[in-house]
Amino acid sequence: MSLHSNSTRALLNLRRTSTASRTAALCVWSLILLLAGGLSGCSSNAKTEEAAGGKSAPKYKILATTLMIADAAARIAGEDVQVEWLMGPGVDPHLYQPTAKDRIKLQSADVILYQGLHLEGKMVDTFESIAKQGRTAVAVSRDIPDSELLSWEGGLHDPHVWHDPKLWKQCVQTMLDTLIAQDPESASAYRERAAAYLAELDELDAFCKQRVAEIPPEQRWLITSHDAFHYYGRAYGFQVVGIQGISTESEAGLKAITDAVDLIKTHKIGAIFPETSVPQAAINRVAQDSGAQLGPELYSDALGGVGSGADTYVGMIQANTNSVVDGLKTPSEK
Ligand SMILES: [Zn+2]
Repeated sequence: MSLHSNSTRALLNLRRTSTASRTAALCVWSLILLLAGGLSGCSSNAKTEEAAGGKSAPKYKILATTLMIADAAARIAGEDVQVEWLMGPGVDPHLYQPTAKDRIKLQSADVILYQGLHLEGKMVDTFESIAKQGRTAVAVSRDIPDSELLSWEGGLHDPHVWHDPKLWKQCVQTMLDTLIAQDPESASAYRERAAAYLAELDELDAFCKQRVAEIPPEQRWLITSHDAFHYYGRAYGFQVVGIQGISTESEAGLKAITDAVDLIKTHKIGAIFPETSVPQAAINRVAQDSGAQLGPELYSDALGGVGSGADTYVGMIQANTNSVVDGLKTPSEK
């Protein structure tokens, strides 16, 4: 029995028919509960498979930090590879600290994929020590040229590159290269699956451009809880303000709140957006003091849960784009 290859298969199935997607997605999260010691509808299925002779063991194990990475890795890797992740829906990667169970997963994984650029700010030492052991721990953002990255304080770069599908494509290419290095015999299958996924990302980019064109450039203000959307803003022509700055570690100060309120009033910005993985006290206060509508939660640093429409990377970016465009339209444009 291989629960993990089931979870990979479930991720892959997310892209098939909507009914199949829902069933498969439920299976993924049920498996998490099962692995955490709970009961799930998938356990009987897994036992049935075991009784019938079981699935073959996975060829190797990938451990991703975020679900965005796990989603892409599963698309490339196919059903023979186990894909797990550390940070589920709504989890803040800036503050995430590995648990004892995570350390076991980190020890047993053959390939570790993380975002890098200090997104996983509390795990930098962990990745360095894994790399020192000669094991494969790859920052999926490593091949993006500095010239395409946005600078940030302390000589760092903004880590939220996945919000621009074109930069995410470069991360996918790095994942592809890593998987080929791990299993060269499967190179052609990996390339074929990656090509299909990369084509979907081009379609996603076109979708975003088309939807954003529905609002005039002067209305393209994206005010959110923290600074996750600068790459999105650069790609689609938004001015972006994150009330808490780039990391969620520091809380928004009073000045940041009053500055945001002034900005909203000056530019008559109709809506601002909380995020699923960030506390909402500051943005609620800004909405209250400015009179702006509080739009739907955006998926900034984590995918959404099953049924959210944002339980895949593509779904995440589509959901965010729909929320932002619909939220910023004036009543006469709706
Ligand atoms: Zn962030």
